[in-house]
Amino acid sequence: MLRRVLLAAAASPRLRQLITDAPATRAIVDSYVAGETAPDAVRVTRALRAAGLLVSLDYLGEDTRDPAQAAAVTEEYVHLLGQLGAAGLTHGGAAEVSVKPTAVGLFLDAGTAAGNIARICAAAAEAGTMVTLDAEEYAAIEPTLQIAAKLRAEHPDLGCVVQACLRRAEADCRALAAHGVRVRLCKGAYSEPDAVAFTARRDVDRSFGRCLRVLMNGPGYPMLATHDPRLIQIAGSLALLTGRAPDSFEYQMLYGIRPAEQRRLANTGARVRVYVPYGGDWYAYLVRRLAERPANLAFFLRSLGRNS
Ligand SMILES: Cc1cc2nc3c(=O)[nH]c(=O)nc-3n(C[C@H](O)[C@H](O)[C@H](O)COP(=O)(O)OP(=O)(O)OC[C@H]3O[C@@H](n4cnc5c(N)ncnc54)[C@H](O)[C@@H]3O)c2cc1C
Repeated sequence: MLRRVLLAAAASPRLRQLITDAPATRAIVDSYVAGETAPDAVRVTRALRAAGLLVSLDYLGEDTRDPAQAAAVTEEYVHLLGQLGAAGLTHGGAAEVSVKPTAVGLFLDAGTAAGNIARICAAAAEAGTMVTLDAEEYAAIEPTLQIAAKLRAEHPDLGCVVQACLRRAEADCRALAAHGVRVRLCKGAYSEPDAVAFTARRDVDRSFGRCLRVLMNGPGYPMLATHDPRLIQIAGSLALLTGRAPDSFEYQMLYGIRPAEQRRLANTGARVRVYVPYGGDWYAYLVRRLAERPANLAFFLRSLGRNS
């Protein structure tokens, strides 16, 4: 409930201004975001690689209605992939990129977004790595999956995401559980209505479990994006039961969240990828992270009170 209220309130321009200007915000942003520029992203990627972790980089920003902005985001990804390749960080997909389709024009028109994503995929292939398309609000889900299906003919390693909170999630997992297809499974970070989504935590977790079984039993490459200790344990047990080799799936977690658990899992021989956002447009990302954890929100509100 609190999560829904916060996600809705976050759209208010006044709240956005208050949060963006608060002195306490910087420290919290720094704990979740790698920095503002591509060199910041490369520096953090190098450190994570040195610790045995894989990386997916996200250039922050979403929902643009401006073609020039969509083109600029596309160019930033192309530039970043060049930098990562030159630094020797992309070998075998060690560092890949995550792209939000609405940041490259999905809500302008799907053709623009598909063209921009194809350009990023080509740059990724040249650098020896791949792309994953993030899942966003409900209106973006179907067009995103359609773009992924189309582009997979030329870029078979183009990954996509299933949000377990959606009622369609299990059916999507069955449709996507094909040979070699990379599918990230997460709970879902957007507030969606009851008609299309499970809204009780327990139901989302159950849906995650069902999707997990479909993906781990299938012939694809599951990417299990959760910090939830119980679901991570279930994933490990399913990997044993299904006889999956450690390199046939991966765990994924967000930069700054449960870093000790990221290293612990990697030390067991599992593939662990850290999702690393960078860039100046961090507001929407930060609000979703605060909404996920009441303790973060309480800490943030206390700091606001101290500094105002
Ligand atoms: C790699 C990755 C990629 C993602 N991509 C997408 C995407 O494309 N689309 C999408 O909708 N969502 C995406 N998400 C977000 C996801 O949907 C969830 O909102 C988020 O991961 C929190 O859910 P959880 O599974 O960690 O479980 P939760 O039940 O929320 O958390 C489990 C435990 O993790 C820790 N934790 C979780 N969140 C935080 C936090 N913010 N700060 C500190 N500790 C925390 C706490 O210990 C908590 O008890 C992604 C998540 C990851 C890890």
